[in-house]
Parts: sequence; C-alpha cells; structure tokens
Amino acid sequence: MNTALRPTIPAGGRLTVDLAALDANWRACAATAGSTETAAAVKADAYGLGMDAVAPRLWRAGCRTFFVATPAEGVRLRALLPDAVVYVLNGFCDGTGPLLLAHRLRAVLGSLDDIDAFLAETGGAAEPPALHVDTGMNRLGLTMGEAVALAADGDRLAALRPGLVMSHLACADDPGHPMTALQIERFAAVRALFPGLPGSLANSAGLLHHPATRHDLVRPGIALYGGACGPASSRMRTVATLEARILQLRDVPAGETVGYGAGETVKRPTRVAVLSVGYADGYPRTAGGADGRPGADAAIGGRRVRLIGRVSMDLVAVDVTDLPDGLARRGAFVELFGPTIGVDEVAAAAGTIGYELLASVGRRVERRLAD
Ligand SMILES: *Cc1c(COP(=O)(O)O)cnc(C)c1O
Repeated sequence: MNTALRPTIPAGGRLTVDLAALDANWRACAATAGSTETAAAVKADAYGLGMDAVAPRLWRAGCRTFFVATPAEGVRLRALLPDAVVYVLNGFCDGTGPLLLAHRLRAVLGSLDDIDAFLAETGGAAEPPALHVDTGMNRLGLTMGEAVALAADGDRLAALRPGLVMSHLACADDPGHPMTALQIERFAAVRALFPGLPGSLANSAGLLHHPATRHDLVRPGIALYGGACGPASSRMRTVATLEARILQLRDVPAGETVGYGAGETVKRPTRVAVLSVGYADGYPRTAGGADGRPGADAAIGGRRVRLIGRVSMDLVAVDVTDLPDGLARRGAFVELFGPTIGVDEVAAAAGTIGYELLASVGRRVERRLAD
C-alpha cells in the first residue's frame, strides 16, 4: 500500500473505522449462523474500510475463511493472515496459477474454461477450489447443465478435488422476492450433484433473513461493515464514519445561489458551512442539493444539517442556519455518514447503495482506527 496516499496530515476528510463494532458485528453474524461456519467477504479493501486493519481483527474475532475478488487482493490478505483460508471469487485468471500455489489461495471456478485453465496451470496441486454454480444471478458460475456434466465426469472431478460448492443470491435483501426461493431450490439440486461437498449460498442478507440459505458456510460482507441488507439489519453497529472539516462559514443573503451551476437558491438569509470533502473523496455528487430537490443530510454534534448546492470535487456546503450558536465552528468536524446519518440514508438520497459509498471512500481521506 502506498502510505503517501493515506495521509495523516489533517486537512480534508477523515474516515474512522470502529474495529470493536466490526468485531461485534462478526460475532453477531456468527451467533446467528450457529453451527454453520461464518466467513467474511473482504474484497475491495474490505469494502473500502481497509483490509490491513479489518482482516486481522476479524481473525481475532474467530473468522478463519475469507473471500476476496482478485488474486492481488488474495496475495495482500495472505501477507496479513498466514493461516486463513482465502477464496478468490472472480474465477480463474489465466497466468495466476503459480501465484495461487505460492500464496495458497483457493480459486472459485465458475466455468468449464475456468476449470480447464486452472487444471492446466496448477496440475491439481493447488488448494481445493470452490465450484461456483449459477442459480439465477446469471453473472458468474457454471450453468446447471455444466454442473451436471462435471458431476458425471469422474476423472475431471478427481483431478479438481473441489472443497466447496457455492452460489450467490441475487435478491436476498428483499425478503419477499420470489428469486430467493427459486435459488434455494436450485441450490439443493446443485448440492445433490456433489454429495459430500460442503455448500455455501448465503451473503449477509441470506444469513440474516433466509435461514434455508445457510448450508455449511455463510459469506457476509456488508453486515460486518454496518451497512443495510434489508430489514432487521439495524442491530448491526456502525463501523465507518466519514467526516469533513468546516473550512469556512459564510452568510448568504436570500436570493443568492450556492455552488457550481448556481443550482440551489437560498430562500432566507442562510449561514453556510463549507466542508473539506467532495466527490474526489468518494462523497457522491448526486447527494447534492438543487432547487426542488433537497440534498442529503449531514450532522454536526449529532444534529442534522442539509447539503446545499452541488457537491464539488473537493468541497461541499451545508446549511447551518438553524444550529445553536457555537456548534458550527471553523475547524469543527461534520459527519457525512456514520452513527447519526447512516451510510444507507446518504446512499438513498444519492440514488445508490451503502456498499458503493463505503467502497468509494477516496485515497486522500485520512484513516483512523477506533477500538
Ligand atoms: C460480495 C459477496 C458476498 C458478500 O455480500 P454481502 O451482500 O456484502 O454480504 C458474498 N458472496 C459473494 C460471491 C460476493 O461476491
């Protein structure tokens, strides 16, 4: 990691990652899973929160199996956790066989071409791979027909020595969605093809809302990081807090506009705080305000304020007119998401999901760990 890109010089935004909350969230997932093993999805730098701190803390909590997306993420995770089971979700990438062997990474194989290329490069000497079978997402994974053919191909299966069969849920965060029942049914058929092989189907939403998806191993991601995955996720604790410093306070007369495009007109004499975060820090541009479309909320000292005008590359403005005197001060920190303003609330205001906001936190944002 290039530490120069993770500044400790205070200036712009800061992200605080609460490792105690992360630990509590993993334990809550594990308690829900009961006798089923609870893994962790730590792809995309642990959903933007920083794999270097997150993965060792999950290990300490008791997590032994981890999912990353790419071989490079797997190499980084292996350096942090020498004894963890590490699965690489994004199929087999040609040329990475030696790297999987050297770092004891487990491939997640989702096509017959994946399987052939993997066997050709590793000669069956790799850690036991996972078979990924598609049950409705139509993204990665063997088709049911391919799974049937593979199950009948004893030689190939013997060469492959898979250690897990898995699939991925498309709609588990929407408890009433019929897709989940269909995927549960299809996955039962998949497991019947590979008797004796452990199975894994559940993401966070599957684990929390659909007990029938738990099988032998659950793979929560967003629930660990405090994001929503449908109802009842409120019991998960906030892990990530993004804050920005107040750079300047100004009084804007009624009728004036704020920010680029003169997009939002102030309707009353307004006290505006200009904050040190913008879309280059991963704060979504679509969270800004415009005439007729209010911006997202932020918070100062636990009290809500509203974005006013567009989000710039490095700056955003909030309306602090209604705050008690002294709360909005030059240099004070404003919560953009965290315990008061949930990441999913900001995401909804910006037309996206909490996952994207977490994974997008920019490289110039200062990182702090709390515990
Ligand atoms: C990202 C991912 C997960 C974790 O999903 P969450 O919704 O964050 O719990 C699990 N399995 C696969 C295959 C994934 O890609």
